[in-house]
Amino acid sequence: MNRVLFASAHVDRIDRDASLPAKFSRLLERADFAAKFKDRRVAVKMHVGADIGFYTIHPLFVRMVVDAIKQAGGTPFLTDGSFSTDAAVARGYTPEVVGARVVGAAGEHDKYLHTRQTDVEGLPTIELCGNVMDADALLVFSHGKCHGHTGFGGAIKNIGMGCVSYKTRGDIHALMSGHFNWQEQLCTHCEQCVSGCPTGAAKFDDNGRFTINEHHCRYCMHCTISCPTGALTMEQPEAKFRQFQKGMAAVCKHVIDNFEPGHVYFINVLLNITPLCDCWGFSTPPIVPDVGIVAGDNIVAVEQASLDLIRWEDFIPSALPDQLMPPGDEGHLFKRIHGKDPYEQVRQCVAAGLGDTEYELEEIT
Ligand code: SF4
Ligand code: SF4
Repeated sequence: MNRVLFASAHVDRIDRDASLPAKFSRLLERADFAAKFKDRRVAVKMHVGADIGFYTIHPLFVRMVVDAIKQAGGTPFLTDGSFSTDAAVARGYTPEVVGARVVGAAGEHDKYLHTRQTDVEGLPTIELCGNVMDADALLVFSHGKCHGHTGFGGAIKNIGMGCVSYKTRGDIHALMSGHFNWQEQLCTHCEQCVSGCPTGAAKFDDNGRFTINEHHCRYCMHCTISCPTGALTMEQPEAKFRQFQKGMAAVCKHVIDNFEPGHVYFINVLLNITPLCDCWGFSTPPIVPDVGIVAGDNIVAVEQASLDLIRWEDFIPSALPDQLMPPGDEGHLFKRIHGKDPYEQVRQCVAAGLGDTEYELEEIT
């Protein structure tokens, strides 16, 4: 049974020691970083966000992680995609504040890469970020949030989209695209597909060609159903979505297997859970109250536990941007918002041999 540590954001009494940072400090002690990180260069993989987004992981928690690694005898460095180092400064991820610097995961210009092969159809090779792969240990430190492409933006997405080159990220996204079939010769440009789309994903470009924003698309099929001429049809969107998740799982498998067993750890910060990824460069209000921090040494169990802890019952409807209204009525909160099952990435990681979803939650009080 996988052990997953959990520090709840709930404060049950007016006492410093009952607050989340104090619990997180105890969680880090329980995690036994010395066994994992002593005498090792530790890549702390983050997603530092962009532009005027302000709901990435608070620098206080980053500092605590960096200090814990150092106290355990490790040498930490923060890392995210190349070109992210300036964005990191705006959120306070500087050596002065958090105790470590941010290094471009594939060098300054996204060119330091290791190429690997995969058996995922449509994804023969992937390019993995060299500065992550060169480390002696890995701590995947993720801000958990809802995500329009992947369903959930946690540890799997942090590696699957964040430890690869820009090219590979595009190749993985391409696995999901192309499930619409638009026949120009049948189209009368009545635009019922556009007006029927609840998310603004369906549009015509300047050349009059039908386009889809994959991020916004919920696979609701309103556009295809409202098309009076049969010009617009849809093929197996779920299969394409699965393939996309399979691509991310393949990256996770390669990256995690790159390290000796016992030297990879995962921490998901489930605070300020927004409906959109931090890469949008702005923040909306959180859609559920803060949950807490989840940690463990198995990516599948940590992701499963994180998703289980984010509940539909806690949804704050007024926090959702109008464009995303209304959520559906089935499944996980994140599926109701974007139409993509957030558990699919967990299932694909299980299929890739990264562990099982059974876990025991150990709450740190
Ligand atoms: S499937 Fe639904 S969300 Fe996607 S483009 Fe069509 S109408 Fe819009
Ligand atoms: S609803 Fe059908 S016919 Fe009308 S613009 Fe869209 S694709 Fe063309």
